[in-house]
Amino acid sequence: PALYGNRTNSQGINMNIQTQWNELSSAYQTFLDRQWQAAPVIGGQKLTGTAHKVHCPYQLSQEVGTAQFATAEQAKQAIDGLSAFWPRWNATPIEQRAQILERLGDLLEANRAELMALCTLEAGKTLQDGIDEVREAVDFCRYYALQARLKLGREELKGPTGERNELFHEGRGVFVCISPWNFPLAIYLGQITAALVAGNTVLAKPAEQTSLIAARALELMFEAGLPKEAIAFLPGDGATLGGVFCRDPRVVGVCFTGSTDTARIINRQLAEKEGAIATLIAETGGQNAMIVDSTALPEQVVKDAIGSAFTSAGQRCSALRVLYVQRDIADRVIELIKGAMDQLKVGPTHLRENDLGPVIDAEARDGLLAHIQQLKAEGKLIAEAKLPGSLNGHFVAPVAFEIGGIHELKKEQFGPVLHVVRFDAADLEKVVADINATGYGLTLGIHSRNEETAERIEALARVGNLYVNRNQVGAVVGVQPFGGCGLSGTGPKAGGPSYLLRFVNERTTSTNT
Ligand code: NAP
Repeated sequence: PALYGNRTNSQGINMNIQTQWNELSSAYQTFLDRQWQAAPVIGGQKLTGTAHKVHCPYQLSQEVGTAQFATAEQAKQAIDGLSAFWPRWNATPIEQRAQILERLGDLLEANRAELMALCTLEAGKTLQDGIDEVREAVDFCRYYALQARLKLGREELKGPTGERNELFHEGRGVFVCISPWNFPLAIYLGQITAALVAGNTVLAKPAEQTSLIAARALELMFEAGLPKEAIAFLPGDGATLGGVFCRDPRVVGVCFTGSTDTARIINRQLAEKEGAIATLIAETGGQNAMIVDSTALPEQVVKDAIGSAFTSAGQRCSALRVLYVQRDIADRVIELIKGAMDQLKVGPTHLRENDLGPVIDAEARDGLLAHIQQLKAEGKLIAEAKLPGSLNGHFVAPVAFEIGGIHELKKEQFGPVLHVVRFDAADLEKVVADINATGYGLTLGIHSRNEETAERIEALARVGNLYVNRNQVGAVVGVQPFGGCGLSGTGPKAGGPSYLLRFVNERTTSTNT
């Protein structure tokens, strides 16, 4: 495949694609025959809800399982249990909580073939995306366990003689974790493990589209030793359930990843509710650009731009949407983009030769196709990859357009659509100003062999994650802590050293000795 190669994760786990492929393909038929189940779980008890059949997004005739969606009544019941158990969980030693996370990391690794199969069958991910997903989830477990030991213990502060001053941290209470479908294991578990290890009980609300993966991960959390009362699992409709838990006075915080619009709704509800002033940690959308000047190497630019725009069918918040190319080399870069897009293979993602799978559902596909039709009608098409005729899923062919500037895009297009803009060297600062003016601030790529240019852009750009002379997707936990600013999120960065501190109350005790 054109997009992927072998990789090892930051913990040195062997995630060689051939090894994984062998493991997965030998067990694949078993996974195809299985019917996965998801249902609300409160205090370890499985409940019934409204049943929804789950179909595979690359093969719609394939039924993957059934998800039972929770009711508003169950959301209230879940918060009762989580509030009651919180003091006990908060009093559990940090070391014990950290060890549960580490055992979970081991279990994720041990069950990776099944988890990767679920990523493919329920979320339409490629094998490489499945590997990356499990790898990141394992990394979150181990990293947050380490950070909890480093950051959350007791610390003695220097004060006057005859007085002992101590700083320590404790959980806040009931934390709600709301995750998106595009990282159904990694973001889902990243939020939950951070909240839990910091001493909070957790209400977990996965995206509707990926409830089955989330339910399987819950089983592994219990197997790792998490007390059944420390978490409640509520798959189901975000607006209905969110309306209950974001208004409940006992909820002390929400950790949310998803669209900017949803973050605003949650923020409003939290602000208006009774009870404690609740924390909102929100990681949201982006309008990500890459700036390429005339000193860049066109072949490298195109490799990184194609990877950044089309990996995971463009369904990454970090994905490249607008490629700014200095006019002097723009024809050459566009020519290479056409060639590279000609090589991209789209199709069912259980087949290893395919670079891209489907988008998540019909609604996502129809939204993207409307945007694509509009730009085609305006005569802006540069290139469009081929789609095989025999597909039965939510496929969108990767496509590239030439437009006049990022301001022409009114919203994030969450799929395989790349926009190219030519600019003159004299306008470099205006280009950065235009990107900043979108209000988003997630990722930005730079390709230049002139260090001063990269430094100038770094100083002017308002983004969370900047990547120079490389692709701009695939942030690694603990190496590239991830998260944006402005319309892209509140911070602090997931997978970074400050993350856990948002989930705790800081306390001090001063004792006259
Ligand atoms: P979404 O529609 O905002 O949904 C995200 C989650 O919020 C889902 O679990 C959803 O439940 C829930 N939700 C929806 N309405 C809600 C409400 N009123 N109250 C509480 N929860 C509610 O986003 P998405 O389409 O799943 O995900 C794609 C977006 O996520 C993109 O904008 C992408 O850029 C962003 N993203 C950002 C990051 C980052 O780190 N910055 C990472 C990944 C994705 P339902 O499933 O029931 O709708």
